[in-house]
Amino acid sequence: MVIHVFLGLMWAWFLRELWHELNAKWIITAAIGSVLPDVDHLLYYTTYGKRELYTKVIVKLIKYHMWRLLVRFVEWGHKYNVNLLFHNFYVMAALVALTVISYLGNWRFGVILLGAMVTHFVFDAFEDLLLLGRFNPNWMRWGRGKRRAIKFSFKNFL
Ligand SMILES: [Zn+2]
Repeated sequence: MVIHVFLGLMWAWFLRELWHELNAKWIITAAIGSVLPDVDHLLYYTTYGKRELYTKVIVKLIKYHMWRLLVRFVEWGHKYNVNLLFHNFYVMAALVALTVISYLGNWRFGVILLGAMVTHFVFDAFEDLLLLGRFNPNWMRWGRGKRRAIKFSFKNFL
């Protein structure tokens, strides 16, 4: 999360070099844009991934107020969540295109917000490569496509 915000701010800084202008509104916009894609996780838990085992474990941990375990579980498990709907290369490409269009149309708010969202996805994808050695299947999936059961290996969690 902190890294996402940092990258968003780097984006704002990059634009400052380009536009010779930076203000509080843009910094806040970049920070919001950099974490906005993770609304996907909330949507997953509350809507399209509600019935999956991963969510059920989380719901149980909340129910029994096992907060510390919950934090650890989510920290560890979110990398194994391969069924995210919007974390994919298509959304990423669309955002890049929209950022370019905003830039050409001189819509700076759009450039800042959308570009910051791009930095989020780029980081997530590279984090996969780094931690897992490959891209999770969600990056290649179009829409609801073919989804697979999330494979947990509790032995590296406990
Ligand atoms: Zn993310």
